[in-house]
Amino acid sequence: MNSSDPAQLIDRFGRKVDYLRISITDRCDFRCVYCMAEDMTFLPRTQILTLEEIYTLAKAFAELGVKKIRVTGGEPLVRKGALGLLEDIGRIESLNELVITTNGSHLAPMAASLKKAGVKRINISLDTLDADKFKAITRTGNLEQVLKGIQAAKAVGFERLKINAVILKNRNHLEVCDLVRFAVDNDIDISFIEEMPLGIISQHDRSEAYYSSDLIKADLAREFTLITSTEKTGGPSRYFKVAGSRTRVGFISPHSENFCSTCNRVRLTVEGRLLLCLGNEHSVDLKKVMRAHPGDMAVLKQAIIDAMSIKPEKHEFNIHEQPILLRHMSVTGG
Ligand code: SAM
Ligand code: SF4
Repeated sequence: MNSSDPAQLIDRFGRKVDYLRISITDRCDFRCVYCMAEDMTFLPRTQILTLEEIYTLAKAFAELGVKKIRVTGGEPLVRKGALGLLEDIGRIESLNELVITTNGSHLAPMAASLKKAGVKRINISLDTLDADKFKAITRTGNLEQVLKGIQAAKAVGFERLKINAVILKNRNHLEVCDLVRFAVDNDIDISFIEEMPLGIISQHDRSEAYYSSDLIKADLAREFTLITSTEKTGGPSRYFKVAGSRTRVGFISPHSENFCSTCNRVRLTVEGRLLLCLGNEHSVDLKKVMRAHPGDMAVLKQAIIDAMSIKPEKHEFNIHEQPILLRHMSVTGG
């Protein structure tokens, strides 16, 4: 590469990778039924990336043209030092966007510091507005605390807030209109996510709980007018505007719609595995590279560039099968 060319990550299919999602912990204070089993074994400390390693990786990716980083988990805000890490990443000049995904449980006390650290937008998971159902879905969560977190984030004034709701048949599928109304009333966005078969869970059969984006759209049409949005967010969500509001409703439909041709992202697992596709196991162990060559940015960057050649063309999710047994979303970084 010519030294005047800005470094870029391009895969075999010509897709430019400029978005990195980092899972900074596999731990969480919730045990959402679609994400975790009730009794989870978490990774030992030696197996996960240190905060310094995560920062070095973020910097390497930014130097290779990554413009957006999402910090997620597990619950990112339960990792000790998360705020300092976000501040450090927030100072990387070439990054345009630092965003996080959180369950909202720690948001109320942290919202102002997150804004100060340079976090631009926050996705907050909220599957129901019914306190009992919330408890049942998250097993350990407290709805009130999350709602307070959302209000705190609103008060601080992030560029945009978005709710993520995973919809499961017979658990929360009757609440999609309530959730959109909540989003409209609070002037925030919302995305509905089809459940993905990641990791072994104990409480339900994923194929029986499947509730498609098309069904949700039909449910919403009874109460709202959804206007197709031409806005491109660079993500898998297909967006609609709720008529008469600023709220956008997105649908992440890995089963009913394939969004792989425009995929611009890769994921870093909490163990330092660079995962080239959420629905496949193609990966490169960047922790091994870093620990074998401490401080050698050139070697690390070359390993990242080389990894692009194994990014798969598309995911192969099948709700009736269990293709990815051992990797929960919390390790992968949802
Ligand atoms: N703890 C944070 C949270 O819940 O927002 C961040 C990590 S969580 C793994 C990120 C997102 O993944 C959440 O919106 C969650 O609802 C979603 N998620 C978890 N497991 C999923 C699954 N099996 N299928 C689809 N979405 C899932
Ligand atoms: Fe925790 Fe988020 Fe998984 Fe729920 S979805 S268990 S909040 S990591």
